[in-house]
Amino acid sequence: MAVFPQPQHVIDELVGDIVSTSGETAVVNLPYTGEKLCDLPLSSLDDVADAASRARLAQLAWSEAGFAHRRRVLLRAHDLLLERRELILDLIQAETGKARLHAFEDLAQGVTSTRYNANAARRVLKHSRRNAVIPLLYRTRVEYRPKGLVGVITPWNFPVALGVMDAGAALAAGNAVLHKADSQAALSLLAARRAFIDAGVPADLWAVVTGSGATIGDAVVTTSDYVCFTGSTATGIGVGRRALENLTGASLELGGKNPMIVLDDVNVQRVVKDAVYASFASMGQLCVSIERVYVQRGIFDEFAAAFAERTASLTQGAAFDDSTDLGSLTLPSQLQRVEEHVQDAVAKGATLLAGGRPRPDLGPLFYEPTVLVNVSEDAECRRVETFGPVVALYPFDTEEEAVLAANDTEFGLNASIFSGSRRRARRLASALGAGSVNINEGYRATFGSADAPMGGMKHSGLGRRSGPEGLLRLVEPRTVSESRGLFTLARTGKEASRLTGLTVTTLRVLKALRLR
Ligand code: NAP
Repeated sequence: MAVFPQPQHVIDELVGDIVSTSGETAVVNLPYTGEKLCDLPLSSLDDVADAASRARLAQLAWSEAGFAHRRRVLLRAHDLLLERRELILDLIQAETGKARLHAFEDLAQGVTSTRYNANAARRVLKHSRRNAVIPLLYRTRVEYRPKGLVGVITPWNFPVALGVMDAGAALAAGNAVLHKADSQAALSLLAARRAFIDAGVPADLWAVVTGSGATIGDAVVTTSDYVCFTGSTATGIGVGRRALENLTGASLELGGKNPMIVLDDVNVQRVVKDAVYASFASMGQLCVSIERVYVQRGIFDEFAAAFAERTASLTQGAAFDDSTDLGSLTLPSQLQRVEEHVQDAVAKGATLLAGGRPRPDLGPLFYEPTVLVNVSEDAECRRVETFGPVVALYPFDTEEEAVLAANDTEFGLNASIFSGSRRRARRLASALGAGSVNINEGYRATFGSADAPMGGMKHSGLGRRSGPEGLLRLVEPRTVSESRGLFTLARTGKEASRLTGLTVTTLRVLKALRLR
């Protein structure tokens, strides 16, 4: 029996950081065993309003403190996240049920993103000179002003990375954060936030509230000056609509049905290792993990057999250490969805090459990693995101066919291509309708590239997190132009008739000089 290895006072201290006076709580269970992990305090609407006011106040000094101060604090937080890794990994596992190596991926992503935001914010957001209406006679610069209060709403699947990627960027840009944590994974997020507070982020500046999405989440959306939402497409569309009602910007990081294309010039045994990892990491409860694998027909049978064999060989179980390759699903609703998708596919003619069964002997939410072939056109899992450990393999003949199949989806989050020829892979990459494309990798190459934007096309989202784009969404650009007093633009008809000739000549010269 896997027992949560941390003492009770750790949980008591963390839940004390939630802004909550309602007296209400929600029971959070350990996915591994179904036993109670904690009673999580819930926030009221008054708590959200109170947290927002205090965060706004704290933001004034934080914004004034400047980039160098914020950089120092965030880099200290980076170090504390690493120092406290055992605690944070225990909490991620306790709340999500994932295996240790996947919990580490969550933490490492948060750490990488913190380093990036700390170091990049000044370079990306410093005032910049722009070409003025008439160069030399006028001066124009662009300043970036923090949005103010950034609302962050995160799901339960990658609590540290998704929280820190948005909150860390918001802080680096000089904002305050009002964060609605998902109840199932609030403790991991709170432990990560503690690292920032202990590093010097004022506690009021990053406020965490909990409660239902429909009330508390909605209040976060309507109270904030910008919203960073991560979650399902259905919820994200509603959040985007609510934000727009207030003319508030929002980045929406939503669902996916991510394809992988495997060309016939690969080393099958090597690629299978990466493909299996990319399909089942975090039990497939990962927005960028792979759910569809298109394999060129010449190697399909060999690939499918090797893929199924490797999948069946993965060690699954409940352990707060590195002794397992896979853990459990997180929520009963996830188990139900996975079972429904597999049963539906099989009832419509699919063949199971591996898995396909729950494992109550391991714990209440365990399900075997599952490989399907011959999935019919009308099967639910053909196009709907499973968000679980279920992957379907499909053969294809030509590269064009593979691209069409990969793009035949309402989503466009992540895609992957394996080929022995980088030229071939790059050509295909440019044809894929996805916000990130990994060549000879599943998802970690792009996901971990904190200096590059991450986000989805089509119904996978709007806007981008990470990279300069992830920082720029969190500020208001303001253009400041000044006349140097050497020239005045025409203010009367008489002045205009005198200056028109000069103006026309100036416009021609500016074009000849190729000035923007
Ligand atoms: P979800 O049901 O949309 O919930 C996400 C968060 O939104 C939760 O904290 C939820 O709170 C809150 N919420 C619900 N209704 C709300 C509302 N009306 N206003 C404001 N907030 C509201 O998503 P999920 O099922 O937890 O997460 C899985 C989905 O997230 C998958 O589709 C996955 O692909 C996607 N995802 C995307 C990314 C990405 O970067 N693109 C990353 C991770 C996950 P309650 O739970 O309390 O309702």
